[in-house]
Amino acid sequence: MLQPLIQKKGGLPPYSVRISNRAKYLQLKISAHHQVEVVVPKGVALHHVSDFVEQHKQWIEKTLVRIKSHQPDKIELPYQVLLNAIDEQWQIQYDSTEHSNVQVDIDHNQLTVRGITETEQLTVLRAWLTQHAKTCLIPWLTAVSEELLLPFKKASVRAQKTRWGSCSSKRHISLNRALLFMSPAAVRYLFIHELCHTKHLNHSTNFWRLVAKYEPGHKAHETELRRASQVIPLWAS
Ligand SMILES: [Zn+2]
Repeated sequence: MLQPLIQKKGGLPPYSVRISNRAKYLQLKISAHHQVEVVVPKGVALHHVSDFVEQHKQWIEKTLVRIKSHQPDKIELPYQVLLNAIDEQWQIQYDSTEHSNVQVDIDHNQLTVRGITETEQLTVLRAWLTQHAKTCLIPWLTAVSEELLLPFKKASVRAQKTRWGSCSSKRHISLNRALLFMSPAAVRYLFIHELCHTKHLNHSTNFWRLVAKYEPGHKAHETELRRASQVIPLWAS
């Protein structure tokens, strides 16, 4: 039997109560959709239920936080994309009548993203972002490399989860497409950081000395990049 008896008393999380003929004890259940349910054996008075929830309030709150962090809310498709690094603002339209493709109107900074489902549209939009990052970031990295006389061999752009960039012993530099959302100064700093790795493949004192030579304010940029989760929209991360 399901009784959708949502209660909220004294800051308790909302929950529903289900009376069960078979249950022997009060039980708490939290679904993947964040719904809290108390299973109550038949005959138990309802005031025991709120005491029970009160006693387990902390556990409920902790569990809800854990579930939510593992299952982020459904990703919303954006209607506008602001790319701070390159000072661009794109308007996005969606068309669900055709399969995966994107139409780019450069004159009006407008994208038409096509895909039958939202998942398909998200994939198309993300692929565009990666491609756009390649087009914009690699020539910029090349210019900084030439300016500082720190050459690299090859550069690529990826959707990285945990890193802003990397540089291999073969001087291959890899950049995160989400750099497009950061400030131009932070992107330039990241380029300097990776280019300095072409001389020192570690974070030694010598490495930081070289970084500071080209970018004395590197600590502020490190902080900006570390706080990036506040800036990068969910659809792009
Ligand atoms: Zn590094």
